[in-house]
Amino acid sequence: MKFSELGLSEDLLKAIKRSGYEEATPIQEETIPLVIQGKDIIGQAQTGTGKTAAFGLPIVEDTDTSNGDIQALIISPTRELAIQTQEELYKLGKDKKVKAQVVYGGADIRRQINNLKNHPQVLVGTPGRLLDHINRRTVKLDHLKTLVLDEADEMLNMGFLDDIESIINKTPADRQTLLFSATMPPAIKKIGVQFMTDPQHVKI
Ligand code: AMP
Repeated sequence: MKFSELGLSEDLLKAIKRSGYEEATPIQEETIPLVIQGKDIIGQAQTGTGKTAAFGLPIVEDTDTSNGDIQALIISPTRELAIQTQEELYKLGKDKKVKAQVVYGGADIRRQINNLKNHPQVLVGTPGRLLDHINRRTVKLDHLKTLVLDEADEMLNMGFLDDIESIINKTPADRQTLLFSATMPPAIKKIGVQFMTDPQHVKI
């Protein structure tokens, strides 16, 4: 399907064109209209299916660049995925001047705190370091609109469930929650029941 049929604005269509994407992938085709409608989503998709843009495009679309509140948070299991996701969001949000930053463990926290003073609207991070920033009040999530749990099964396997629950508890109750996972074990379904509102299932 063509991206122009998915209800995205001109800035986004420009960014898509620059990225060299010609057609939306199946997960993008199914997910983007639901995210724009404000639905919570449980998406079963592997890496390489275009899932980053599936949540990234509607997030950029929904970002209000007139303020510097963190409006979208993407939690990733690894530093590598977090960096890759931030890079894609930066690329997609460039025309709209959306600021996207990344925080992860094992790196100098002072430098991250300094970067956060730039007031990104989109933040990507790994669970432990995100929680550290939240506790230091260097990351505030009071105005968060969209929360993404990316590769949720990996995060559970790595023992991040408690950290993720603590982070979710710092976000507004009326946020939109998007969960992506390659597999759907019972623990993932439980997150859907506990932390999501009438989640729509998308499977590729
Ligand atoms: P992901 O599944 O998000 O890790 O994306 C896998 C790769 O596909 C990334 O390099 C993306 O830049 C690329 N990609 C995402 N959407 C599209 C698309 N619609 N057409 C072509 N490539 C895409």
